[in-house]
Amino acid sequence: MSIQRIRYLGDPVLRTPCEPVTTFDKELRTLVNDLMETMLDAPGAGLAAPQIGVGLRVFTYDVDDARGHLVNPVIVSKSDEMQDGEEGCLSLPGMTWELKRSANVVAAGFNMHGDPVTIEGSEVLARCLQHETDHLDGVIFVDLLDPETKKAAMKAIREAEWSTEPAPVVKQTPHPMYGVIR
Ligand SMILES: [Zn+2]
Repeated sequence: MSIQRIRYLGDPVLRTPCEPVTTFDKELRTLVNDLMETMLDAPGAGLAAPQIGVGLRVFTYDVDDARGHLVNPVIVSKSDEMQDGEEGCLSLPGMTWELKRSANVVAAGFNMHGDPVTIEGSEVLARCLQHETDHLDGVIFVDLLDPETKKAAMKAIREAEWSTEPAPVVKQTPHPMYGVIR
């Protein structure tokens, strides 16, 4: 097992919906161990497989005294009650924004041996379970920000030194005088 390179926003693997795990083998155990080791090294509260370039439905989490992994996770229930809070992502280093999330969720899936697992989370763990499950569908938390915050986020992302988003194309007219609307 080893620490893997974390992919940044702009890497297509983060936008590709992941495949479910069908074989609970040694390869899966290596993936879970790599995710855990990479997450703890970063350090982060959670890490999803696409963030290390693997398109499988697996994530790890480490919030307070809850540390573990979930294979083929599904959010089976989430509260109508919402929570406010800052959210960040290892794929957008150094950036956090306010995002409303359900206050309590239940996630179901499997451990690396194929045994069914259910995790109930509130507060930060609830936020983490929603964030990591989103990753497996190619959804990044900035997609969910309110329009104004999202605009600011996109600008900050374009300007970030780690950003691999293509630079916006600036169209210039060859005759600047004629481009001015009077
Ligand atoms: Zn993330």
